[in-house]
Amino acid sequence: MEHIENDDRFGGLTVNKGVNQPPVVNPYLQRRKRKPQLSAGDLVEGILKGDITTLARAVTLVESLSPEHQTVAQEVIEKCLPHSGKSRRIGITGVPGAGKSTSIDVFGLHVLKRGGKLAVLAIDPSSERTKGSILGDKTRMEKLAIHPDAFIRPSPSAGSLGGVARKTRETIVLCEAAGFDNIFVETVGVGQSETAVHSMVDYFLLIQLAGTGDELQGIKRGIMEMADGIVINKADGDNIQRAKLAQAQFRSALHLFPPTESGWSPEVLTYSGYFELGIAEVWDMIDRYFAFVDANGYFERKRSEQARYWMYETIDEQLRAHFYHNPDIKRMLEEKEIRVLNNRQSSFTAARDVLDHYFSM
Ligand code: GDP
Repeated sequence: MEHIENDDRFGGLTVNKGVNQPPVVNPYLQRRKRKPQLSAGDLVEGILKGDITTLARAVTLVESLSPEHQTVAQEVIEKCLPHSGKSRRIGITGVPGAGKSTSIDVFGLHVLKRGGKLAVLAIDPSSERTKGSILGDKTRMEKLAIHPDAFIRPSPSAGSLGGVARKTRETIVLCEAAGFDNIFVETVGVGQSETAVHSMVDYFLLIQLAGTGDELQGIKRGIMEMADGIVINKADGDNIQRAKLAQAQFRSALHLFPPTESGWSPEVLTYSGYFELGIAEVWDMIDRYFAFVDANGYFERKRSEQARYWMYETIDEQLRAHFYHNPDIKRMLEEKEIRVLNNRQSSFTAARDVLDHYFSM
């Protein structure tokens, strides 16, 4: 008996004999094969040729959590490094609704009109919006999305800010090696991610909206202090007057800040991303900045400083990961946590015990 269920004991239940799998209706149809994993050498070759598909695949490896992918990714980054660095890296921030997407679309087209290529990356560790959704970001920047010389990549999906930022930093290297000479790094201007963006760009642009004036207080002072330029968006229609007023307010607020490290005095302009007004002026301002920091050597100084910063950031991140992912440590931490919560041990001696154990491993 083929099926035990057909035994009399199981009355009312019959199981039919299975049929053979029918032949493929279309013999020419091949099963979709998974793309073979390219070697680091192949990836580098494709990237240096400027092949966007290869670039995208390498970025996927950079973003991957798998240790094998990370090994390949690190090798690719290392080999791309000598071909990187020749770009203008511009950070763009502003609260949701400030008009970042609209503006990046028109700023991007303006930049591309002058030739060259543009990569738009993002750092948004808290993001629900960008979680793996390339389409989401592409529809936000409609014109750039279909431009052959633009590469748009949403933020690496949620993780620790340090981790997300490092991946974006590494993606910059790959994009530059692929010949992208303009890099925009977008972030939502509400939290910690600005500091991370600031530490990987040459110019930091803050998009603001005209408000009632109270808004000046709402802006995080730290973010304003980092800005090399403040632009007030939506200066169109009956909003022009308010935008001008905000411009004056920001200008006087900036006077109260200490001089910048670059020696550059941040400028404040108004524009309209939607109606494409004042775009050339914003870009002239950015050009003036680059000429200024090229001439006084700050450009190079800042880049070396950033390289140093990322070395320590990477060490910090890897040390933490190594520590917290260790199964022994994980177990011990669970135990110690309970002891500390129950006041059976002080935080300090608990921490010391765990660290002692780690260092003696
Ligand atoms: P983001 O959240 O910072 O990316 O902002 P969006 O680019 O999505 O813009 C938010 C809203 O503001 C959208 O409805 C836009 O159409 C609108 N907007 C963007 N730029 C302008 C502008 O220059 N003028 C006006 N009037 N509206 C704008």
